[in-house]
Amino acid sequence: MTTATDWSALYRDLHRHPELSFGETRTAGIVAERLASSGFEVTTGIGRTGVVGQMRNGDGPVVLLRADMDGLPVEERTGLPYASADRGLDPDGNDVAVMHACGHDVHVTCLLAACERLATEGDTWTGTLLAVFQPAEELGAGARAMLDDGLYERFPGPSVVLGQHVSPLPAGVIGLHAGPAYAATDSLRITLHGRGGHGSMPETTVDPVVMAAATVLRLQSVVAREVAPADFAVVTVGRLAAGTKANVIPDDAEIRLNVRTYDAAVRTRVLAAIERIVRGEAAAAGAPAEPELEHFETLPPVVNDPQAVERTRAALEASCAMVADPGAVAGSEDVGLLAVEAGAPCVYWMLGGADPARFAGLSTSEELIGVVRTLPSNHSPLFAPVVEPTLAVGTAALVNAALAWLGPNRPG
Ligand code: ZN
Ligand code: ZN
Repeated sequence: MTTATDWSALYRDLHRHPELSFGETRTAGIVAERLASSGFEVTTGIGRTGVVGQMRNGDGPVVLLRADMDGLPVEERTGLPYASADRGLDPDGNDVAVMHACGHDVHVTCLLAACERLATEGDTWTGTLLAVFQPAEELGAGARAMLDDGLYERFPGPSVVLGQHVSPLPAGVIGLHAGPAYAATDSLRITLHGRGGHGSMPETTVDPVVMAAATVLRLQSVVAREVAPADFAVVTVGRLAAGTKANVIPDDAEIRLNVRTYDAAVRTRVLAAIERIVRGEAAAAGAPAEPELEHFETLPPVVNDPQAVERTRAALEASCAMVADPGAVAGSEDVGLLAVEAGAPCVYWMLGGADPARFAGLSTSEELIGVVRTLPSNHSPLFAPVVEPTLAVGTAALVNAALAWLGPNRPG
């Protein structure tokens, strides 16, 4: 064995130098170099900045381990000695501060460390390891970009997709939830067409502002009146735009909204209700043209296959102090696409990263969740996972979970 890699130093370096979605070139270079030195076959530039490391080690299952690489346009305020002062250009060309505010630097470091360890322990397993370092998770676009660039034509389809996300759970704790764990997301851009004119002569116009206002209010009834109380859905109108001036009735209005669901039937019903209401309100207003609905973002839910979760649970329990069930979260993640497109089960867990000292003396999970809610969450400028034991647990979890799936027939 070569001298042990200082993974915490690598983590601090990645944290100090975050990169925006699809701009992860420095990160991808470090990933490619480390994978190669661990003995992986390395392919770069998949889905623009994605990297795949492959290790073929005889017959057996193909296990895909996934880490995302991108940072966020957030100005870091953690005060850490390795805080980021880097800047980047956002998709609109604005110069913005950049921070690893979602902890993807933890994911990259743990996966590189896990790859090195699995490579050195190659005599204990058989099969193929695919280490997928994905760009642009924060845009919900990186997994799609890698798939569209032939991920599963250039590499064998996986038997299972495994991954993790660092969270404000205590470091040393892993969160694992069977079934839908992260929500499906759908974003719509809706253009309502009216007929503009002078503000003093509304009788000559069809006012799209009133049409939009009525539509937004009516949309609030979708979750309240059309979704069963036991089912989950969120409909949020995040943008409402029309007009330029107080005394000009504009021609058009724009609504942008986002939908979160776990269940496919609920999702279908909510999207149909939105379209029905948009078209109905336009008709009620006497709109001169049909409204346009454009679906511009969509991701499936992340569903943790219950049988695959059971097969992986013991491996995760062996990697940490405690495996807890955090329930489903309303956030979304594009790791689910990698599993759906392969027809493979997915197991995606939460890796605790909060300082365990904050949780000292607590005895119930309600108390624990109460403290979690007071800590800076992912995407906060104060999000600061403790380096250890977060990296050690995250690395062990990936290694042990992979070994639970690789051959030869290991106890599941
Ligand atoms: Zn994020
Ligand atoms: Zn994230």
